[in-house]
Amino acid sequence: KDDGVPGRVRVAVRLRPRNAQEMMADADFADSVELQPELKRLKLRKNNWELDTYEFDDMLTEYVSQKRVYEVVAKPVSVLDGYNGMVMAYGQTGTGKTFTLGQVGEGDTSDRGIRVRSMEGVLADISPETDSISVSYLQVVRPLSHYWFDLLNAFYPRTGDVIVPGATIVEIKSQQSFLELLRCGEAHRVAANTKLNTESSRSHAILMVCLWKRICVASENGDPTHLTKPFKPLVRKSKLVVVDLAGSERIQKSGCINSLAENRTHVPFRDSKLTRLLKDSFGGETTSTILFGQRAMKVENILKIKEEFDYKSLS
Ligand code: ADP
Ligand code: MG
Repeated sequence: KDDGVPGRVRVAVRLRPRNAQEMMADADFADSVELQPELKRLKLRKNNWELDTYEFDDMLTEYVSQKRVYEVVAKPVSVLDGYNGMVMAYGQTGTGKTFTLGQVGEGDTSDRGIRVRSMEGVLADISPETDSISVSYLQVVRPLSHYWFDLLNAFYPRTGDVIVPGATIVEIKSQQSFLELLRCGEAHRVAANTKLNTESSRSHAILMVCLWKRICVASENGDPTHLTKPFKPLVRKSKLVVVDLAGSERIQKSGCINSLAENRTHVPFRDSKLTRLLKDSFGGETTSTILFGQRAMKVENILKIKEEFDYKSLS
């Protein structure tokens, strides 16, 4: 299995359940998406004509929990070994990108999304005395994509280290402080979008988590507690980036996403600001997953997949 191999981009698809309105609007489910988890294939139908079949690394049907989505999509994107990691959600507005990545899980923690769960994973692995975690949270608004907005600026003072030059960077000590930061960031995002007269579907939200981890250097006889020479502690820096992309209907040519999904080395990003912000999040030293959001499927297919799922969970 090639989970978490640096340089390789995994591509997953998650289907969100139909809502009541969609049930009404397309009562005969003429337009649909069908997942075949066994074959890792997705089929698209339009007016009951089969249009296309796509292959993915992972299929997440509407029965898959937030926890499982995290385990499949984000857990293999480990930044704990000194590699960088990126999780990016792509899809039309309303397909569940923000739900999957950003759900804070107030009240019901089973709802928590990838950002919160990933931070939990990072916090569990560090030692607070020697390691540090810093976060920046930015928004890039299309089509004004030569600007980015600092979603933490109104709430936190700027501190020293640099993730993106000029961006506020906040040190995170606990899950509590991270949740607080996310709430502030979201509030700022809403306020900024009101002021700019834009919507969140037109903007990319980029969360950057930097981890500085002190690593143990063994002495000549291999015992780090009995050093024969003075040594300089090594600090290993890694970065996790979680990107909630603008609705794909707003991105005219998504050539960059296709190139990433096909693991091409040259990624023709049109969105220059986004490219620059993410430049060290592509390529050989990074593990990444792109999650495609999808919605709508036929009732019969839902039942079929449900059967398969129940069957699998029994075995
Ligand atoms: P996007 O960010 O892609 O525009 P959202 O995450 O805002 O989409 O999701 C649209 C709506 O669907 C929201 O009301 C959200 O709560 C709901 N939703 C999305 N995914 C799921 C899911 N897996 N289960 C239940 N509700 C979902
Ligand atoms: Mg959204």
